[in-house]
Amino acid sequence: MLHLLKAAVAAWSLLLPLAALSSEVVVYSARNEQLIKPLFDRYTEQTGVTVRYITDKAGPLLQRLEAEGRRTPADMLITVDAGNLWHAAENGVLAEISSPILEANVPANLRDPQGRWFGLSERARTLIYSTERVRPQELSTYEDLADPKWRGRLCLRTSKKVYNQSLVATLIARLGEERAEQIVRGWVDNLAVAPFSNDTKAMQAVAGGQCDVTIVNTYYFGRLQKQQPDIKLGIFWPNQDSSGVHINVSGAGVTRHAKNPEAAQALLEWLTSEAAQADFAGLNMEYPVNPKVTPDATVRAWGEFKADTLNVNEAGRLQSAAIRLMDRAGYR
Ligand code: FE
Repeated sequence: MLHLLKAAVAAWSLLLPLAALSSEVVVYSARNEQLIKPLFDRYTEQTGVTVRYITDKAGPLLQRLEAEGRRTPADMLITVDAGNLWHAAENGVLAEISSPILEANVPANLRDPQGRWFGLSERARTLIYSTERVRPQELSTYEDLADPKWRGRLCLRTSKKVYNQSLVATLIARLGEERAEQIVRGWVDNLAVAPFSNDTKAMQAVAGGQCDVTIVNTYYFGRLQKQQPDIKLGIFWPNQDSSGVHINVSGAGVTRHAKNPEAAQALLEWLTSEAAQADFAGLNMEYPVNPKVTPDATVRAWGEFKADTLNVNEAGRLQSAAIRLMDRAGYR
């Protein structure tokens, strides 16, 4: 009897920390439903906490959060690209969090120095080339794609996309504005055709012979490879003797006006944990931010590379300078 009572007390004390948490978290997510729902379902199964969410594009979600102000039902914002995370933090919709768990699970260069957002998955923006017309030894750096030897051979996605704004922002951070502008002007001079609306179209143009090399996020390459395993495209890691490959994150923060801030923080901590990271990154063929977790097999097959260690926050800080620079350089 005493035995049973002890067991009951032990069980009750285990439940206490959970009972203190709210049983619901509301998430606004710019990450697609099929990439987050399996994680949320598992979290609910393990904790009993319900995760309600809406998904939309990054811009409209941020506008909605701002418009709702204190009345927002959102406890957490998940969005993609450090540029968007930086904007959310700048606009005051995210709370500052100090969490030893998040600080241990997310490397310092993949989170806001003030703790308002944390990277959840890492993507590399790298070079994809035609294996029919380019030898990998001809490739070296992002800067080199401005060289006249690539005249009429380069394809790019539009400069309107935050991914390219972040890439150019990090060129500014590393090389200064003048040098960065020379490079972007060189890219524009080398374009084979007008910029594309997305990364996949740019790669299809390379495969189809319109151009020989482009710059894309790794997971789009993974998706294309899954659909067309024989596609004549290769992946190349640039800047291995200098700055490393440009990386970016999807990430999240707890909202300033969260109704369930502790529950939101607990979910955020779980999403960065070893238990969740393999799936969070793997579902989109991205890299886990948590260094203890290995990427999935498809991603590992692309090989290891040296990544840029610049804090991704710089991409946000220099984003408007990058947009102005690309405009001056005629990059549409
Ligand atoms: Fe994307």
